[in-house]
Amino acid sequence: MTGRRLVLLGPPGSGKGTQGELLAASLGIPTVSTGALFRDQMARGTALGVEAQTYIAQGHLVPDRVTNAMVKSRLAAADAAPGFILDGYPRNVPQVAVLDEILSAQGWSLSAALSLELPEELIVDRLLKRALIEGRADDTEPIIRQRLAVYQCETAPIIDLYAARGLLVSVGAVGAVAEIAARIHSALGVDE
Ligand code: AMP
Repeated sequence: MTGRRLVLLGPPGSGKGTQGELLAASLGIPTVSTGALFRDQMARGTALGVEAQTYIAQGHLVPDRVTNAMVKSRLAAADAAPGFILDGYPRNVPQVAVLDEILSAQGWSLSAALSLELPEELIVDRLLKRALIEGRADDTEPIIRQRLAVYQCETAPIIDLYAARGLLVSVGAVGAVAEIAARIHSALGVDE
C-alpha cells in the first residue's frame, strides 16, 4: 500500500529506526531519518556534516535552518512522491510548521503521527546496549541524558499537537521487535 505519509515520534531508543524500516518495507515507501542523513553527511565530511557534528556530539538539536533545508530537499526526491516515513523529524514545534508548509506546497497531508511509547527507565539501558553494537558517538550516558532532556522539553510537546489534529496513533514500544512491529502494523491497518 502506498500513499502514506507518516511521522514517527518517540524518545531516543524507542526503536523508531528499526520499526520505521520494517513499516517502510511493508508499505514500499522510504524512511527519511534526519539522524541517518546527518550521520551520512558527517561520514562524507561535507560542510553540512561538519556544521551538524558539534551539535550532535553534544546531544543538542542541529539548528532548524540546516535541518529544515535538508528535509525539504530530501522530500523533493522522486522516491518520496508515493509516500514516506519521517524518523526524527519534526523534533520541535517550529519544525512542525515547516513540515506543514512542505506538505501543503505539494498538496500532501499527513496520514498519521505514530508515537512509540517507552518508560524512561528503559531508555538509557537500551541506548547503552546500542552503543556497544553500533558504536554511535552520541550514545554515551551523559549525552543520552542530554538528548532525553531535549526530547522532553522540545519534542514531547509535538505529541499533543498531533493529538489535537486527530493524527496521533500511540503504540507501546516495550517487547520484542517482531511483537512491536505487529502492534504498529495493526494500529495503522497495514499488512505485514
Ligand atoms: P537520531 O538518530 O534521530 O537520534 O538523531 C541523532 C542526532 O541528530 C540528534 O541528537 C540531533 O542532534 C540530530 N537531529 C536529528 N534529527 C534532528 C532534527 N529533526 N532537528 C534537529 N536535530 C536533529
